[in-house]
Amino acid sequence: MLASSRFSRCICARTLRQKGFHQRCVPAQALTSVHPAQKHSARFYASSSNSEVVGKGQGDVSPHPQASEMGEYAPTGKKPILDQPIAKSLYLGKLDPKFLVYPEISKEEFDELNELVVPIEKFFDNLDSKSIDVNAKIPDETLQQIKDLGLFGLQVPEEFGGLNLNATAYARVGEVTARDGAIAVTLAAHQAIGYMGILLVGNDDQKQKYLPRLASGEHTAAFCLTEPSSGSDAASIQTRATLSEDGKTWTLNGGKIWISNGGIADVFTVFAKTEVTTPEGETKDKVTAFIVERAFGGVTSGKPEDKMGIRGSNTTEVHFDNTPVPAENVLGEVGQGFKLAMNILNSGRFSMGSGGAGILKKLIGWTAEHATSRSQFGKKLTEFGLIQEKFAKVAVTVYAMESMAYLTSCVLDSYDNPDMSVEAAMVKIFSSEASWNCASECLQVLGGLGYMRDYPYERYVRDARIMLIFEGTNEILRLFVALNGVQYAGKTLKELVKKLRNPLNNPGLMLKTAWRKTKGQSVIGAKEMQLHTDVHPELEAEAKILDKSIVKFSGAVEEVLTQFGNKVVDEQMKLKRLADISIDLYALTACIGRASRSLCIGLRNADQEVLLTRSFCYEAEQRINQNLYELMPSKQANRAIDDTNRQIAESIFKHGGYAAEHPLARNW
Ligand SMILES: Cc1cc2nc3c(=O)[nH]c(=O)nc-3n(C[C@H](O)[C@H](O)[C@H](O)COP(=O)(O)OP(=O)(O)OC[C@H]3O[C@@H](n4cnc5c(N)ncnc54)[C@H](O)[C@@H]3O)c2cc1C
Repeated sequence: MLASSRFSRCICARTLRQKGFHQRCVPAQALTSVHPAQKHSARFYASSSNSEVVGKGQGDVSPHPQASEMGEYAPTGKKPILDQPIAKSLYLGKLDPKFLVYPEISKEEFDELNELVVPIEKFFDNLDSKSIDVNAKIPDETLQQIKDLGLFGLQVPEEFGGLNLNATAYARVGEVTARDGAIAVTLAAHQAIGYMGILLVGNDDQKQKYLPRLASGEHTAAFCLTEPSSGSDAASIQTRATLSEDGKTWTLNGGKIWISNGGIADVFTVFAKTEVTTPEGETKDKVTAFIVERAFGGVTSGKPEDKMGIRGSNTTEVHFDNTPVPAENVLGEVGQGFKLAMNILNSGRFSMGSGGAGILKKLIGWTAEHATSRSQFGKKLTEFGLIQEKFAKVAVTVYAMESMAYLTSCVLDSYDNPDMSVEAAMVKIFSSEASWNCASECLQVLGGLGYMRDYPYERYVRDARIMLIFEGTNEILRLFVALNGVQYAGKTLKELVKKLRNPLNNPGLMLKTAWRKTKGQSVIGAKEMQLHTDVHPELEAEAKILDKSIVKFSGAVEEVLTQFGNKVVDEQMKLKRLADISIDLYALTACIGRASRSLCIGLRNADQEVLLTRSFCYEAEQRINQNLYELMPSKQANRAIDDTNRQIAESIFKHGGYAAEHPLARNW
């Protein structure tokens, strides 16, 4: 198996290169110049590197015109610039309809990708994940097999020995590797964060020196940011690096905790405070990133942490005690380390969507097998409405997860270095919570069996839990999503908000505002975009809901900005609601676009996709309306509920716990 795996890897790497896979996995023009779905009969997807028209699905019913028929499209091989952010624009009540055109890859590329995952799937089919979990260790021979499959260098350019996969291919492989949580985390710690900094900002010498051995797995990487006093507040790290007088060596001192691969890594991306002199001559502490080899000396790791889940992954403390780091091992610019840390974390989050979906699709299959064979009360479990509802909800959630993940990855691949950090955070928040809830729901269908360690369900539930905590907690990411959106809207609305906050000086605007509000319109005048004309008629109702919800959302953003101005940063409960609405809107966009595409190209089971989208849309609309209701200042109940909850929490902190007396207590 080893030999054939290696062979497959070589074939894949070569053929992927020959086809320029990483450059044109997803035709950029599908997202940039073509706006086809309102012409339901014709959906065009043109390759970015030649004028080939691709994307025929099974039973394709639509004519595919040549690229030249697409007007402005002129194939240049160069990736276009993403002219408008997707998620942030929602805060202004806008969605460019081109993002309802779900992107696709060519048949050739699709086949290549499937060929790539065959040996990886085989490997995971035969993997003993239970023993990895029980022994809390991935055996060395298993790690070697993973390296032989090329999984340690998925996104490393081929010149450095990697597979050079783009985001979409990386997400697809992630569907499979996620089947073992411990391995998925080991791989992510190594490449998605461990050496991602070298890929993103490393200079040629650093790439040449480190990437080949990291890609082959000869060396393992880790990402060292978190410290005992600095978790979410990553900028407050205490680890310090001081430059020698001759400017040749930094001396690193400090301790990091909970470092994945901490005990097995040879190369660490370490973030430390350094003294930086500003152009004004001031001295300031700023974070700098370093490439640190264990071999430099003064690097020690603690014993592996005993964890709830992903038990086979190696999580340890890492200490640096006068570790000498050559000056050439500064990663990026001195003082720019915090930004780099955030960029690294932003770059990998989107893959949690496909990873989570990969596991859940397996679980749905196994769970359905159980439900169809288990009888209670003289009936199969599958005949009970409550069990049917669980399956439906899990499937709907998986559909949303993978739709969002691949929309995000495809945009990442199609444009020139697009900023998709907000969308990637949305995918992470949605998918991590969905993975945890859905794994638990599948366990529930098994009843007592699901709780037994002989079955994998309890392990999946335990493994999924970490996804809400690391790579940015979901609380911090919700704030990140909402604040980015609000800030984006705020720039456009600055003048308007200023005026709205000073009604006495702007009576005309106040009248206009009052008039618009009676008509349920926002003052900025976001209008419905007739999105239903951009999708298959079968999804007209869903697209109209999306359209309406986007407009209503922009009204809520405007209200919140008007009410709180810059102080909105302190309104976490409001920001959470804004984040949640925008996540639902992004998920809806992805689901509707995907289902519409499936209908248009006649994909097998497209009717099922419509049902999944319809169900998601129903649920999302309920959540959106509830959040909108709670955001409206006129709804006194909302102000009361936030204040009430704040008071309850304050009382807990004051009393050191739950404050109500025991139900049996009385004032004797
Ligand atoms: C298994 C595992 C592996 C890890 N691997 C790595 C690794 O490889 N490298 C690495 O550097 N780190 C790693 N970490 C650390 C991880 O990134 C941190 O645990 C995470 O960033 C949260 O920090 P914290 O645990 O200190 O929680 P805290 O920051 O103390 O947060 C506690 C709670 O408060 C919330 N909170 C914090 N600040 C705010 C705020 N401003 N507003 C609202 N809520 C807030 C958080 O969301 C959370 O719910 C790992 C952790 C674990 C458990």
